[in-house]
Amino acid sequence: MSKITKIDALEILDSRANPTVEVILELDNKFIGNSKVPSGASCGKYEAVELRDNDSNRYNGKGVLKAINNINKTIKENIINKDFANQEELDNYLIKLDNTNNKSNLGANAILGVSCAFAKAKAMSEDKNLYEYFGNGLTLPVPMMNVLNGGKHADNNVSSQEFMIMPVGANTFSEALRWCSEVYHTLKKILKENNLTTSVGDEGGFAPNLKSDEEALDLLVEAIKKAGYKPGVDFFLACDIASTEMWEEAKKINKEGNYYFWKTDEVKTKDEMIDWIISLCEKYPLLSVEDSLAEDDFEGWKKLTEKLSNKIQLVGDDLFVTNTNRLQMGINKNLANSILIKLNQIGTITETINACNLARKNNYTSVISHRSGETEDTTIADLVVGLNTGQIKTGAPCRSDRVAKYNRLLEIEYFNKNTKYYGKDILKEIKK
Ligand code: PGA
Repeated sequence: MSKITKIDALEILDSRANPTVEVILELDNKFIGNSKVPSGASCGKYEAVELRDNDSNRYNGKGVLKAINNINKTIKENIINKDFANQEELDNYLIKLDNTNNKSNLGANAILGVSCAFAKAKAMSEDKNLYEYFGNGLTLPVPMMNVLNGGKHADNNVSSQEFMIMPVGANTFSEALRWCSEVYHTLKKILKENNLTTSVGDEGGFAPNLKSDEEALDLLVEAIKKAGYKPGVDFFLACDIASTEMWEEAKKINKEGNYYFWKTDEVKTKDEMIDWIISLCEKYPLLSVEDSLAEDDFEGWKKLTEKLSNKIQLVGDDLFVTNTNRLQMGINKNLANSILIKLNQIGTITETINACNLARKNNYTSVISHRSGETEDTTIADLVVGLNTGQIKTGAPCRSDRVAKYNRLLEIEYFNKNTKYYGKDILKEIKK
């Protein structure tokens, strides 16, 4: 049993200069867990509620003192000096204490902070690495590395949010990371030669103005080749269209039910979106496309899944929001074949693990993901290894909030010689 003897929460900053929650929790055996909560920009409407103060006198309304107060008062009063046998017991207790179906009472940012801090303290008290505490996995993931940013994460003219490289052909995680860093630097050189900006977006990827999304994918292929690697062998590509944003933008110009690429002033119908994604898959070595369609466009998702699910990974982010109810609905309706996993979309470790388990049981892949607003917290690196899911999306090899996760994976690889890089195995799973 693990009695929680101390818990403190404080307001800290995330990578976008916005406040977020830090929790420090101590067990009776003196082990201390510390957790820092991430925050999204392009959020799905079915995500658990991130509690913000909405007090315009502080941090433009984005303060998190209410969430902090909920931890330091309500949660503390209820969990202090109580024994929790395991993670599930604590998480279920917190869910019950909140007593809403979207954590709007205490805030998912408050609950997740406590859940993760407990996990870290408990892992130490059981003399386990955090990844061993999460599960029996020893697989180091293929990074889905976001090297060109657009959408809500960058002030350029590219509407799609992320263009990523996946080093599937590498033999080890450290080799994969080196390859990615080399391609990243080559890409920077190419951008400079073309008089394009090399300033970066929220996730550390470059954010130049481009003629089209296709130009972004062309640039990735060129950078891979110029760095000395083979597209479609050493590297595959991935993108996150984040199309719920286009779906919402269309409503603003009275084109509800369509997709408005607001940065280039272009409207696509559902069928045009599907045809466009198919054409991208035909033209480029794309292995994975996330949020090709919006969170409520079930009809579009169904059609797209029928056409592409045996060719590429179709990842649902806003569609599933790491929620087993949404995922089960998607499984029943045959939507997508993969789920993006973000801890703060659901708010506890236990529910996050449940989402991965449900996905695996139904042959959906799981991609463990950061948020665009991050901290130096590296929990997701341990999560992806322990749960054996094989894929992580945590930005470019640039900016410490992103690199911290990659560096943690390097440490795991270094200290545990039994780990294995997922690499080419991903191709069997995605049936490319
Ligand atoms: P978000 O984006 O945190 O703004 O939702 C994160 C991602 O999907 O990379």
